[in-house]
Amino acid sequence: MKSRFAPSPTGYLHIGGARTALFAWLWARKNKSSFVLRIEDTDRERSTKESVNAILDGLEWIGLDYDEGPIYQSDRFGRYNEVIHELLSNSQAYYCDCSKERLESMRESQIANKEKPKYDGCCREKSLKSGVIRFRNPDKGSVTFRDFVKGEVSIENSELDDLIISRSDGTPTYNLTVVVDDHDMQIDCVIRGDDHINNTPKQINLYEALDWNIPKFAHVPMILGSDGSRLSKRHGALNLLSYRDEGFLPDALLNYLVRLGWSNGDQEIFSIDEMIELFELKNINNSPASFNQEKLEWLNQSYIKSLPSTHLVEHLGWHLEKLNINLEDGPDIYVVVDFLKERSKSLVDMAQSCVMFYQDFEDFDEAQAHKIFKSKTKEVLQDLESRLSEINDWNANNIHFVIESICESRSIGFGKVGQPLRLALSGDGKSGSIDKSAQFVGKKRTLSRLNMALSWINSQNN
Ligand code: GLU
Repeated sequence: MKSRFAPSPTGYLHIGGARTALFAWLWARKNKSSFVLRIEDTDRERSTKESVNAILDGLEWIGLDYDEGPIYQSDRFGRYNEVIHELLSNSQAYYCDCSKERLESMRESQIANKEKPKYDGCCREKSLKSGVIRFRNPDKGSVTFRDFVKGEVSIENSELDDLIISRSDGTPTYNLTVVVDDHDMQIDCVIRGDDHINNTPKQINLYEALDWNIPKFAHVPMILGSDGSRLSKRHGALNLLSYRDEGFLPDALLNYLVRLGWSNGDQEIFSIDEMIELFELKNINNSPASFNQEKLEWLNQSYIKSLPSTHLVEHLGWHLEKLNINLEDGPDIYVVVDFLKERSKSLVDMAQSCVMFYQDFEDFDEAQAHKIFKSKTKEVLQDLESRLSEINDWNANNIHFVIESICESRSIGFGKVGQPLRLALSGDGKSGSIDKSAQFVGKKRTLSRLNMALSWINSQNN
């Protein structure tokens, strides 16, 4: 048994495309069958190498692995031509040389007469030898199929067009290539966006003309924006990989996408294994789902909290690299992540919190330094420097104890010590718990940053 994902590489991998891929992948994994990746790149003008790479990278990032492929349609023109010629020789297809003008005026008059616009079959019996090639759609009867999501779909053949299967430049069109491929690749279940549902009856007629088995179909509804209109850029990112860039975990995004249009009672959190076990095409909702960014953020945060640090580090690595963080140059990242997972909104947030533990900085934030490093702070920083240098076992508890005892001996509040220490350590005043931060910055760096703060104060007085 097989399912497939068949994107056209004419842009990035869209979040809606990723959800279609997820459903097709879940079906394959659930049925212990093969998942095929097919790149539908017959439109040579609009297909780009960058889009192919974006699709491959996107699928890899989100963890949807395929067993066959990527198979490129552009490598299969020979096979498509073979099928087109078989149809021609059986009179199930014919050449048509109708001009654009003729087709246009026919269309206009059909619309004016309130008829459904379609080709009138003018070239059907002309036995032409060149032009576009059209499929001879049956005139009588109807096409009926059962869709896993939409239920029974039925359409009269009289409503269907003689569709073009080969363009005048000899390239095959989508409806032909998809049928040839789904047949040749032995796809049992075609799971795709419901923007293709009107193509399905035409494709079924092609299967029948070729005397091929017809696969099963599941047409997945669109994703809408939070306001109910079709999902677009103004609702947030559409590009799957921009969710990686924004610090989402693939686990959270997959969980979010599976719930968007599919349900298992009111369960919200699904591990991948649970998704595979519970997935049923019949539980896909038949109405479009709305994208909700806050819910995705909530899921991401709850995954960050609950996943083991080993898994988080795997995905955090990409963000650390982007910030040029060298893990050799600081504390054990697993210990750091264990601490940060409770308080990070996203992996970006987590990576930014790591910067001060692994990287030194040249200057303090000017405005903060002027506000916090006053001359009377100098003594506090000096106290900190000498007391902290005495700590042998460098950990948050001992650091906390030093801060408290300085507060006590000087009769000042925690903030009066914590605030300058925070700025000295971070350079910009942004950090979580100060004693834990100092622990991760390490003793040597803490002392040298305190010295840097003292030099800054001295330089102001001169
Ligand atoms: N290549 C088509 C698309 O990206 C999908 C075709 C299909 O799944 O049948 O919309």
